[in-house]
Amino acid sequence: MHLVTLIPGDGIGPEITKAVTDIFAAAQVPVQWEEQNAGQTTFDQSGELIPVALLKSLEKNKVALKGPITTPVGKGFRSINVTLRQKYDLYQNVRPSKTTPGIHTRYEGIDLVLFRENTEGLYSGLEVFDERLGIADSIARVTVEGSRKICRAAFAYANRHGRKKVTLAHKANIIKMAGTIMINACKEASLEFPHIVFEDKIIDNMCMQLVSKPEQFDVIVTTNLFGDLLSDLCAGLVGGLGVVAGANIGDNMAIFEAVHGSAPDIAGQGKANPTALLRSAIMMLHHLGEHVVADRLDKALDDTLLHQEQCTGDLGGRATTSEFTQHIIDKL
Ligand code: NAD
Repeated sequence: MHLVTLIPGDGIGPEITKAVTDIFAAAQVPVQWEEQNAGQTTFDQSGELIPVALLKSLEKNKVALKGPITTPVGKGFRSINVTLRQKYDLYQNVRPSKTTPGIHTRYEGIDLVLFRENTEGLYSGLEVFDERLGIADSIARVTVEGSRKICRAAFAYANRHGRKKVTLAHKANIIKMAGTIMINACKEASLEFPHIVFEDKIIDNMCMQLVSKPEQFDVIVTTNLFGDLLSDLCAGLVGGLGVVAGANIGDNMAIFEAVHGSAPDIAGQGKANPTALLRSAIMMLHHLGEHVVADRLDKALDDTLLHQEQCTGDLGGRATTSEFTQHIIDKL
């Protein structure tokens, strides 16, 4: 039995985490959940944004499944997601996007994995606003060490999974210093894996290529902000934010969560698609070495996605979150 920290999160978080825990219970997955929460609701109840009990649970279990957490725009508290990623050096944000039979999209044959640097860049939290001068400085700190780690992780993943190519997306023509560090880090990593093709593309061209010929990409590696933007773009290529999984991975801890946010526009209405979080949970099972049950869940999910009428509205279906969940359970 694996002890795993479960963070339901905000907005649609509790609905989609319930879907996943129901499916896990039906499949008798050997996971025992330890529920802890964070964010505004937790603060209102306990006076703690990130409770000490949550940190202790993470440090003990080293694996977590997390729902999305709302972050106020412009003001208010700092993102809890970014805080946890930095605190535990979860430097890899791994986000696979793959065409799924049954999910109707404009594209076919997409099977790419995005490696987003997860602790540095414009998300470093190095910001000052001089009100008198009317100047805001938001510093994109990129380190040689951090760049080496994420680039090596992308190549090592490509090697482990028999992938052929790693593409670095950067803006080194304008942001010369940070961009060059990433190019050099990738070149260094590519020497270790000479059988994997390495190419680099400027981010603006990368966006155009991704929407015109996305099937050319295999593994993509990039800095924090570019990775955040590209992963939502990639989600749009394969069916939307409701279906794309993710993992925040460090050397000692991993937190699995969907790419999407708390979706306040549909929260509490039974409209949320739990696929993205379920797929994140399936990634978590592979991480825990539970490959057989992970494949069983994957198959039940794929079988359900083949029937559009059994899916949620974002995929063109009419099912509620709990009806869709029941269809997956029926297929197990
Ligand atoms: P969002 O991802 O929450 O929603 C964007 C759009 O996608 C909305 O129309 C939403 O309804 C839809 N959508 C998202 N997930 C869906 C699902 N599972 N099923 C069906 N439709 C889904 O992005 P946003 O509205 O820009 O952000 C809302 C909040 O989430 C913000 O506070 C933001 O900071 C936060 N956020 C958190 C995380 C995280 O916890 N990792 C990630 C991204 C955004």
